[in-house]
Amino acid sequence: MRIPIQSVTPKTGHAEISGWVHEVRDLGGLAFFLIRDRTGIIQVTIPKKKVSEAVLAAAKAVSRESIVRVTGTVKAMEKAPGGRELVPDSFEIVSLAETPLPLDVVEKVPADLDTRLDARFLDVRRPRVAAVFQIRSAAMHAINDFLHKEGFTSITTPKIVAAATEGGTELFPIAYFDKEAFLNQSPQLYKQMMMAAGFEKVYEIGPIFRAEEHNTTKHLNEATSIDIEVSFADHHEVMRILEELIVKTYEYVNVTCGDQLANLEINDFAVPRTPFARLPYADAIAIAQKKIADPIKFGDDISAAAEHAIGAEMGDHYFIVDWPSEIRPYYAMPYENDPTICKAFDLMHPRMELSSGAQRVHKYELLVSQIKKKGLNPESFEFYLRPFRFGMPPHAGWGLGADRLIMTMLGLGNVREAVLFPRDMHRLVP
Ligand code: ATP
Ligand code: MG
Repeated sequence: MRIPIQSVTPKTGHAEISGWVHEVRDLGGLAFFLIRDRTGIIQVTIPKKKVSEAVLAAAKAVSRESIVRVTGTVKAMEKAPGGRELVPDSFEIVSLAETPLPLDVVEKVPADLDTRLDARFLDVRRPRVAAVFQIRSAAMHAINDFLHKEGFTSITTPKIVAAATEGGTELFPIAYFDKEAFLNQSPQLYKQMMMAAGFEKVYEIGPIFRAEEHNTTKHLNEATSIDIEVSFADHHEVMRILEELIVKTYEYVNVTCGDQLANLEINDFAVPRTPFARLPYADAIAIAQKKIADPIKFGDDISAAAEHAIGAEMGDHYFIVDWPSEIRPYYAMPYENDPTICKAFDLMHPRMELSSGAQRVHKYELLVSQIKKKGLNPESFEFYLRPFRFGMPPHAGWGLGADRLIMTMLGLGNVREAVLFPRDMHRLVP
């Protein structure tokens, strides 16, 4: 029976392993193979004079990254990885890899990102790359676990929709029988409707689609969003949940992903400190005005350059709060005493925005008037507005980009590195 390579020790005796041919070295009378599975690497040593014809023939024919099944005797060998080697009595090629490989799995200098993404299945065979996705998996586990413990119900909302969530964002139209339909840009309207359904705390982790012609290292056309919505809560309460979720996720990764962090050569993994600073939007603009050359004023979106300048000043995660109502969506709740600003926030990593959220408008009349103010037609939102006429509790929530969370957590240069099969303007395959 096959045993994981990590479990093979000098005490194992006779063992069967299966895995990829990581490296081949031929030293005349001796041939060395490094065989890799997801648990580790073992050296298979073939003394050419002492093994069968069949073993020799297979060893000669095999290429790097082929799958082999090897049985043999385990011996202690100080110089080999893990302090042991396997001397085969059978060496079988299970699946031969073509040569040349489209991507070199063992090369120290990584290929460029496009080449890597074109051959992603080979790219992720590298422990360094696999580590990103193992950490992503652990992070998502921590997030699910945290939200369940906080009493959230996990929901799934449609990704094929009839209307945009908000004006402005470009949508992907799709062929849907004889109707006009789109891929959803956000679960916003649906998670709000679930507040009217009485669920009180819901979350969804799922894809969001944005048809914008981005050409940046932090935008994708298909991203993964972690969305929550909470009844009888204000923006302060959901900011607390968000900062706690970030810290719990970092802590879990720190405790459970030591090997993966080492593979990524991250030795200074720092869990962010709470509470995160709450920086009013007006103060954020003032910082940007002092630090960047481009003109920026109250009421402008925060540009990438401004984001970097403010981030450098803040040093760790922080919230930008009290945004001008004009530049936030219609569903953000204006302050009663000054409706020109609203109870919206962004969670920022020093490098970029991670999340946007707000206390929402729960009063029907105010919502309709805000939709009109944005130049949108309330009639096209009737499916969304209807629940607001039948008992809608006050509520608040946010959407957090999973891909950017992993990108910033691991210091990756490009969000595409945090996504197995990224979708951007130029990439639809694989
Ligand atoms: P940005 O201004 O950085 O483009 P946004 O304000 O348009 O982001 P939101 O609509 O607020 O994005 O979405 C909430 C979160 O979802 C963002 O903070 C981000 O983490 C993530 N997100 C949104 N759009 C994208 C995208 N195109 N690619 C990757 N992540 C995204
Ligand atoms: Mg945003």
